[in-house]
Amino acid sequence: MRCIGLIGGMSWESTAVYYRHLNETVRDRLGGLASADAMLRSVNFADIVTLQKRGDWEEAARVLSAAAQGLERAGADCVLICTNTMHKIADEIAAAVSVPLIHIVDVTARALIKAGKRRPLLLATAYTMEQDFYLARMRRFAPFEPMVPDAEDRASVHAIIFDELCQGKVEACSRATFQAIIEKARAAGADSVILGCTEICLLIDQQSSCLPVFDSTRLHVEAAIDFALAAQATSAAA
Ligand code: GLU
Repeated sequence: MRCIGLIGGMSWESTAVYYRHLNETVRDRLGGLASADAMLRSVNFADIVTLQKRGDWEEAARVLSAAAQGLERAGADCVLICTNTMHKIADEIAAAVSVPLIHIVDVTARALIKAGKRRPLLLATAYTMEQDFYLARMRRFAPFEPMVPDAEDRASVHAIIFDELCQGKVEACSRATFQAIIEKARAAGADSVILGCTEICLLIDQQSSCLPVFDSTRLHVEAAIDFALAAQATSAAA
């Protein structure tokens, strides 16, 4: 099994979900006592948020590239950035290492294509919903017609992510807010919803959504395990 390197802590609430999903997925695929071969470099999220607010993506790229290099030096065979937002600087981080970076947008786009979805609603931080790094990358894969909430709803989603979910607070009234936003998008023609922030799975799942859910956290983990076990499948077949 290849070793998965995680750049986490953004926030640690979702990194904990990654860790659980990674191990559950390996157990489900291999059985018995099997668990993920993984390594975590967890950063201080407060420092990253300061850089986000300042718009200092260059310094953020320097910090996260150093984290990726540390994982590579320690033996990671791939790198995952455990947040959608920080994929804004994924190209810089990927260029800093020689192991592959498993890109969260790519795995999400492929899952949508596989399911035949073209008009997803994107729920994410304001950075991800409003800047072009995420949606432009998605459009490289297929002629998606993604939707984002209106300005007021984007502000609510962003505030719920940072003021609640990233701080471990899961509130029923915020779930209702997300559900209303998803329902509005369904009525406007959305065919699916991307949980494009790695904490949203703490609040919304398939049961609580009227649209098919594409959870970036789970999809990212699945792709990492596919990568980690691919070598094993090849050697077993040989
Ligand atoms: N985990 C979140 C995401 O997936 C937000 C935290 C961050 O700003 O990195 O975008």
